[in-house]
Amino acid sequence: MRNLLQKPEQQFLVLTICILGLIGIILNTSLSSLIKDNFITSRVETISSYLNRNSSKIPPQAFSSSDYQANKPIFEEALKALADLGVVRVKVYNQKGVVVYSDEPKLIGENFSGSEELEEALKGQVETEISETVKKEHSFERGYGQLMEIYTPVFLGRKEPIGVIEAYYAIDSLNWQIKRTQIFIGGTLTLSFVALFLGLFWMFKRASKQVDLIHSRESEKLREISRLKDEFVFVAAHELRTPVTAIKAYASMVLEESKNLKGTVKSDLKMIQTANNVLLELINDLLEVARGAAGKLQVNVTSQDMKKILSYVLGQLQPLAKEKNISLNDLTPQPLPLVLADQDKLKEVFLNLLSNAIKYNHTGGKITISCKEEEDFLVVSVKDTGIGLSSEDKKHIFERFWRSENSFVRQNTGTGLGLFITKELVERMGGKIWVESEENKGSNFSFKLKTGRFKK
Ligand code: ADP
Repeated sequence: MRNLLQKPEQQFLVLTICILGLIGIILNTSLSSLIKDNFITSRVETISSYLNRNSSKIPPQAFSSSDYQANKPIFEEALKALADLGVVRVKVYNQKGVVVYSDEPKLIGENFSGSEELEEALKGQVETEISETVKKEHSFERGYGQLMEIYTPVFLGRKEPIGVIEAYYAIDSLNWQIKRTQIFIGGTLTLSFVALFLGLFWMFKRASKQVDLIHSRESEKLREISRLKDEFVFVAAHELRTPVTAIKAYASMVLEESKNLKGTVKSDLKMIQTANNVLLELINDLLEVARGAAGKLQVNVTSQDMKKILSYVLGQLQPLAKEKNISLNDLTPQPLPLVLADQDKLKEVFLNLLSNAIKYNHTGGKITISCKEEEDFLVVSVKDTGIGLSSEDKKHIFERFWRSENSFVRQNTGTGLGLFITKELVERMGGKIWVESEENKGSNFSFKLKTGRFKK
């Protein structure tokens, strides 16, 4: 069900059907009772005004006489059209509430004083009451379903009513007309709701298509901007690398030639060399990131002797470790199984991890490199006794340009790109990288690469 309602069109469809359905049900119910009330009221008015008009034909003495035979033709003549109006029974009362005429002769002479509606009508009010013919009092009207009893006072020019005419109207005869009107109004409502729904749905579809179009245009633009940015970084870094490399070479040459120089010139030159090295490192990192983003990062995976690559990198970093009196312990066995990797990229991975282990380690610290085989992979770990990482730091460690806020870290130069590149390289070679670390105790960076079963 949740899957079914994932698309906005489906949500819109269900929501509008529910809302329109609910409005439809409420409208239909209230309109139905309104229609019924309206029909009944108009029928009461018709019958009541007929009685008002025709009662003038009845002489006043007919209300006080108990001579049924004499009264019968007078009342029959005055009330003859009542049957055409749906009236099934008629009773005429005198001022005392005694029936002086009825089309059911057995009722003549009966006293109904005390009936609430009759008493009110005898005071001059038109009264109505709905009753069921199943009730005992309606033994003569059985079979008509619901009845509307309409009590109409007869004044015959006097202030007080001289009597009351009660007409029983069979409501069931109205039911078909009410149903027909209800069906017509209900049908019209349903059709208008369907039209409204289709209109809304069409508008919604059009709007969502336009939004999709704008989205795809926007993301196309964003992709283009991002591509241009990557291209710019790549070109700028590439162009910068040549002069910066030249400065590096010339700085070394000048330093070499000015061995005997005294004073601040030599230390100033050293400062230039250090700053230039940082700049070159940044340029190289940027170049690598831009290459990755532009899909220009070439990774050529073949079977590699990892031990050989590791020994080469350790050899390169030995002087740096010595400067801080850090011991580098290679615990990897000889020989190691071949791994599927790119030689240069694997060198770069070791270089980044090991130089970090030195950089973020204390003087006199320790670095241990170990490895183990796990199914088809070789897992390599570079463990240091350095400053470690907080649990918050661990969440960001492989992000681009991220560097810890730790003051020890900030004393060292860096770009925050090394681990981002390392992760990218390991993954491109089909491997995975992760870190375990505890603040102030040290870090253990591990990566795994597929073992290569075939010889180079
Ligand atoms: P850089 O070293 O140039 O800052 P990296 O991407 O190599 O960039 O490292 C990102 C950050 O991760 C470092 O600035 C440092 O805060 C943290 N870090 C990396 N290696 C270690 C480590 N071995 N021990 C503690 N923190 C480390």
